[in-house]
Amino acid sequence: MSLLSVRNLTTEFFSGGAWLEAVSDVSFDLRRGEILGLVGESGCGKSTVAYSVMRLLASNAQISAGEVWLEDVNLTAADEGELQDLRGSRLSMIFQDPMTALDSLFTVGHQVIETLQEHLDLNVIEARERALALLRQVGIPAAEERLNAYPYQFSGGMSQRIALAIAISCHPQVLIADEPTTALDVTIQAQILHLIRRLLVEEQGTGVLLITHDLGVVAQVCDRVAVMYAGKIVEFGDVASIFSNPLHPYTQALLNSLPSQGIARGELENIQGRVPSLADRPAGCRFHPRCSHALGVCRQETPQLRTTADGQEVACVLYD
Ligand code: SF4
Repeated sequence: MSLLSVRNLTTEFFSGGAWLEAVSDVSFDLRRGEILGLVGESGCGKSTVAYSVMRLLASNAQISAGEVWLEDVNLTAADEGELQDLRGSRLSMIFQDPMTALDSLFTVGHQVIETLQEHLDLNVIEARERALALLRQVGIPAAEERLNAYPYQFSGGMSQRIALAIAISCHPQVLIADEPTTALDVTIQAQILHLIRRLLVEEQGTGVLLITHDLGVVAQVCDRVAVMYAGKIVEFGDVASIFSNPLHPYTQALLNSLPSQGIARGELENIQGRVPSLADRPAGCRFHPRCSHALGVCRQETPQLRTTADGQEVACVLYD
């Protein structure tokens, strides 16, 4: 069942005297109890999708078309009061830098308790007990003492655990995780991803939208994946299919640039060129300047997502 439904989302930024599309006609559903990866290089529009869903766009950005539904709530039509009620309760987010979510002026205990009391009917004692349980759940050692510590007294990995404790404190239906492990070393990264899967997906049935540039992270933890390039989804499918049979040349290039995959295929390579800026998007297929399979038609026609016989979706003329 779909928890979050993104339909034909288009988001623009005002820059250089014009509105420029950062996200173009993006659609997907996030199901209960799954982790959906949104993957692509920097500048492909992944985080803009996340901030559009949360309605946390910068003042020079707007959703110009499409809708986002959290079950029966149209988030694109909700007013700020409704959004504030939803954020932190039914809809939650963690960021690459946990300090974005933590206030350096207050103890972590204060911040967890405050979130709990804002969204749940708990008195201070009940909220403190629940905060303590949450810190233990996310693996903070000596949790009772650490309730009184300030964010600067924690390492990056521990801070991300506390941000996760706040994010899950009110049992969100949907968690958006924007590059949550990019700043962490590999061991801590694996621990945080494991916590997200166990505490949210398995125990609460939460749907997680995981934004990442790292296909290795997708392989570790995601159920399905949407590959984004220059503001559009170019391939969508379950992780096993996409890793065993990538269809879009961009997905193939991303996989071949991943040491574990590229070496196994004997095709380890860097992707040539770079993602075009918003002001400089090529006509036709936006990937054509970098694509080794490009045909003449690729410069004129924009390929649409089509479903293959195997159930994968791909936007490329090679599969028309
Ligand atoms: Fe390459 Fe053409 Fe497919 Fe785009 S549509 S990915 S340029 S083959």
